[in-house]
Amino acid sequence: MTPKKLAIVTYGCQMNKYDSERIAGLLQQAGYTLTADVRQAHLVLLNTCSVREKADQKFYSELGRLKRLKTRRPELLIGVCGCIPQRARDEILQRAPYVDLVFGTLNLSRVVELVRQVEETREPVLEITDEVLDDDLGVLPVARDSRVTAFVSVMQGCNKHCSFCVVPATRGPQVSRPLPVVLEEVRRLAEAGYREVTLLGQNVNAYGKDLRPRRVDFADLLAAVNAVDGIARIRFVTSHPLDFTPRLIAAMAELDKVCEYLHLPFQAGSNRILKLMRRGYTAEAYRELIAQIREAVPDIALSTDVIVGFPGETEEDFLETRRMLELVRFDSIFLFKYSPRPGTLAPQLPNPVPEAVKQRRFEGLLNMQKRIALAANLPYEGRTVEVLVEGPSKKDPAKLTGRTRTNKIVNFAGDARLIGELVPVRITRAGLYALEGELASASATLPLVEVAAS
Ligand code: SF4
Repeated sequence: MTPKKLAIVTYGCQMNKYDSERIAGLLQQAGYTLTADVRQAHLVLLNTCSVREKADQKFYSELGRLKRLKTRRPELLIGVCGCIPQRARDEILQRAPYVDLVFGTLNLSRVVELVRQVEETREPVLEITDEVLDDDLGVLPVARDSRVTAFVSVMQGCNKHCSFCVVPATRGPQVSRPLPVVLEEVRRLAEAGYREVTLLGQNVNAYGKDLRPRRVDFADLLAAVNAVDGIARIRFVTSHPLDFTPRLIAAMAELDKVCEYLHLPFQAGSNRILKLMRRGYTAEAYRELIAQIREAVPDIALSTDVIVGFPGETEEDFLETRRMLELVRFDSIFLFKYSPRPGTLAPQLPNPVPEAVKQRRFEGLLNMQKRIALAANLPYEGRTVEVLVEGPSKKDPAKLTGRTRTNKIVNFAGDARLIGELVPVRITRAGLYALEGELASASATLPLVEVAAS
């Protein structure tokens, strides 16, 4: 019997990407093989994102394409999972009755049973749970894209209620995975040869706050992961400024495997807008926090999330956001135009910003950030940096690609046997989005120093 083929189309954030890897791991174990080509698949799963209106639209147009495919191949099974069904419940089956399977974000450990049910009955199956299943917090098989770097979820959901954000509705309240379970997953990754882990959650630095009795926080978790042999680098994403404690800053400075890179969303530079967003900090407090982090970890690279066009944002408010970029000088930013999401508070606020104004502000910030990002990359020219080699470069498959500890992409010529190794690379050219370089030594076993001046 030919193995059944599974295609997963993933929208949205790294959490969704990791969930897709877990779903693929479970279904692989149950006999499915993976294909990137939906036309070849027996089962297509759309892992959806609800964070912006555009992602919703993209999903429904993909669903329309699958409907046409199913008309030609009625045996095709179509599944929808992730954030849209978790929020919209039975809306998908109402709008698209040709969908066979719908499940949410908190019960993906049940995917094999749900798929079997559909295969046997050929009746639509809808299963959404409101609380994360214990099995979802355990160590599940994961079909990972990379064999060098891996995501490890440390929590589900979020207890903050930012007025623009749909995540509490799509992922539920915060539930931390027990520390021994996270460690077990990291140990298994180390045994399988992985060198880097990214600890993943909507608000990782609130880790442990929901555990009873509360014994650990995110700094403890970092220390425990730092002690796992074989893992060379630790990253984490995403953090909230309010939960960034002095203890965590000290841990970042002291733990040798924690990389000098931090993604810390500020969202808006105006205190009035921050209040409307319910972020719980001021622009001044954010900058003070950045100053403390830079003092403890001097070479740290920073990235952030920014929203333009939040309801009521005036030109003066927007100038405060520009000022934040000028003052902090982030290495990179993830910039978004505000889009109203169902079930959030912000759409009820007065004075929505016209689309043309949002677009102008968006482009203005983007151009400004390009200048700042290039200026942040130029000092790398002539330096030798430690690069973890991840695989062939997407842009030029004849080259290898990897990242510095500061999360800069580096492309260079080298032997494919270096994939998974830490190698010294001399940077020859700094671009806006990536650095070009050459191997500083033919041996991958030299002692390495990050950003050592040549
Ligand atoms: S902290 Fe992040 S995930 Fe949580 S509500 Fe705010 S923006 Fe959403």
